[in-house]
Amino acid sequence: MKPKIEISHILNRQQFWRTSTHFLSRQKFDLHAITLCRTAKLGRHIDYCEKCSEVRISYNSCRNRNCPKCQATYREKWIAKREEEVLDVPYFHTVFTVSHKLNDLFLHEPELMYNLLFKTVWETVRTFGSKSLEGEMGMIAVLHTWGQNLSLHPHLHCIIPGGALCNGKHWKGSDKTGKYLFPAKALAKMFRAKLVDQIRKNDTSKAYFDQSIAKSCFEKEWVVYAKRPFGGAKQVIEYLGRYTHKTAISNHRLLDYSQGKVTFSYKDYRTGANKKEMTLSDVDFIKRYSMHLLPKGFRRIRHFGFYNGAIKKVKIEKIRKSIGQKTPQKVEWDWIK
Ligand SMILES: [Zn+2]
Ligand SMILES: [Zn+2]
Repeated sequence: MKPKIEISHILNRQQFWRTSTHFLSRQKFDLHAITLCRTAKLGRHIDYCEKCSEVRISYNSCRNRNCPKCQATYREKWIAKREEEVLDVPYFHTVFTVSHKLNDLFLHEPELMYNLLFKTVWETVRTFGSKSLEGEMGMIAVLHTWGQNLSLHPHLHCIIPGGALCNGKHWKGSDKTGKYLFPAKALAKMFRAKLVDQIRKNDTSKAYFDQSIAKSCFEKEWVVYAKRPFGGAKQVIEYLGRYTHKTAISNHRLLDYSQGKVTFSYKDYRTGANKKEMTLSDVDFIKRYSMHLLPKGFRRIRHFGFYNGAIKKVKIEKIRKSIGQKTPQKVEWDWIK
């Protein structure tokens, strides 16, 4: 069903962002692209499916990865590709969250901080893998920068196969039952130490990071949320798709836009994921939304360990051989261009 209200409607009606100094030029570029997506301004194209002879005529999309409309296409392509890599082992979903004391730093140095987030999360998982399994782990990590109400809430969703490739040959499961990866509290502790250490070492972060922020980072435990493994390979891929190509808010969550006010729905996880509504002025809504437009060229989905690099395919084949899994067929993809 087509959503009643779209972000592009809000951006078209309230255009203060075009001239406001509050926004970086890259943010204006992204917002502009979203206003043009699937409109006559970008022209149209014809899709033809050879299998069912269906013909579709549609307006061209903006292909901006911050655009909510363009994400479904990217998601399906991405999922099809992942099917070639999935292993017949338990997978774990682990979410790494940072202290909100670092929000200013994330807001002003997004590229540096999001890169450090990926780096230190992987360093943590890699260290646990080599210490307790004596092998190489694999991980797919997806960056989300938002909380449900569009606030800044950087966190990394990590999908981790429960085990490691040992001696480049054998698969070693994280435990015999397949229900357990690493203790979440220990992961959180190491991750926090690594991230704070990296920030300390970095000169550009100094303006938004001092001794008192560093101290406050250690006052409270950081949250690493670990979910038990999901079903088989197919479920893993579907599950991944829910996280990989999200934008800060989907059009379907926009409930009303009138008299300069935007109302949207959100889930309040502090009260058992209750569905609530929030109303903001359109100006504030656009400002909040723009915090989540990532720097140009920034990769928000990253692959690590045996899921990364030139010999990824070789490593995956080695693991499959070790666990007795057949190589899945290559997925054909001829519909979405
Ligand atoms: Zn688009
Ligand atoms: Zn998330």
